[in-house]
Amino acid sequence: MKLIRNPDELQLLALSYRASGKTIALVPTMGNLHAGHASLMDMARPQADILIVSDFVNPTQFGPNEDFDAYPRTLDADIALAEAHGVDILFAPAASAIYKKNASTFVKENSCSQGLCGRSRPIHFQGVCTVVNLLFNLAQPNVAVFGQKDAQQVAVLKRMVRDLHMPIKMLVAPIVRESDGLALSSRNQYLTAEERAVAPKIQATLQQLATAIAAGERVPANLETLFKTTLAGTSDLFEPQYIEFVDKDTMQPLEKIVPAQTLIAVAVYMKTTRTRLIDNIVV
Ligand code: AMP
Repeated sequence: MKLIRNPDELQLLALSYRASGKTIALVPTMGNLHAGHASLMDMARPQADILIVSDFVNPTQFGPNEDFDAYPRTLDADIALAEAHGVDILFAPAASAIYKKNASTFVKENSCSQGLCGRSRPIHFQGVCTVVNLLFNLAQPNVAVFGQKDAQQVAVLKRMVRDLHMPIKMLVAPIVRESDGLALSSRNQYLTAEERAVAPKIQATLQQLATAIAAGERVPANLETLFKTTLAGTSDLFEPQYIEFVDKDTMQPLEKIVPAQTLIAVAVYMKTTRTRLIDNIVV
């Protein structure tokens, strides 16, 4: 595996691969790689001749009071994990190499990005679209793989690729969870032992909503109440930020649950550490 830090070097190499007829798959990540990221690599590996993983904590997708500085950076462990999953190139640039001084061009999606996480993180998806566009230009992928864990990100990026006629196949990998149901996330390590112990209840409660829907419940407000009362009844460590019922492709709010087309997405703060956990389910 090759470790590349210089964007120009990556682009030259990627262009030479493409010119010689080789195909490229890209898995963008912010590093601190875990089994969720590994599942994306495993999905991407058979899709192309060359597998590139980017490992970059992107400053433009963090708000001023978010965890950019605290975000875990573990390049040595990331190299080992990427190598073990057949990655050809790990691209780990410095922010100063990625963003030109006085960079003034950004990519903004204006529909799928508005609700859910976009409401409380107004610049987040602009940062995501910009960096993913930029990584596409550097890595020249035929295929890119993203995780359903960030369902809104998937919808926003698919829309960007469609709207801007990018010749890239977008693949989505299912959410990888701990054995107790908690979705794997680099942010789980911020949790206290007490928070970690109750956190799986977020997914368990989403499953309860799915059961209620299977039994005929179609009213989002009733399901929202069920979600909030169930979490509150479990632990006072939960502070739900949002629960939204949206079309799984457009992220637009639904007045009534549409079976097989509804994404229920949640963000919940854990009160002690103010860690914000997200999860979702398609029902
Ligand atoms: P991140 O490093 O958190 O920006 O994530 C990089 C990619 O890995 C994104 O496409 C995420 O959706 C995906 N990802 C993160 N956690 C998981 C997980 N638990 N299961 C599946 N994919 C994940």
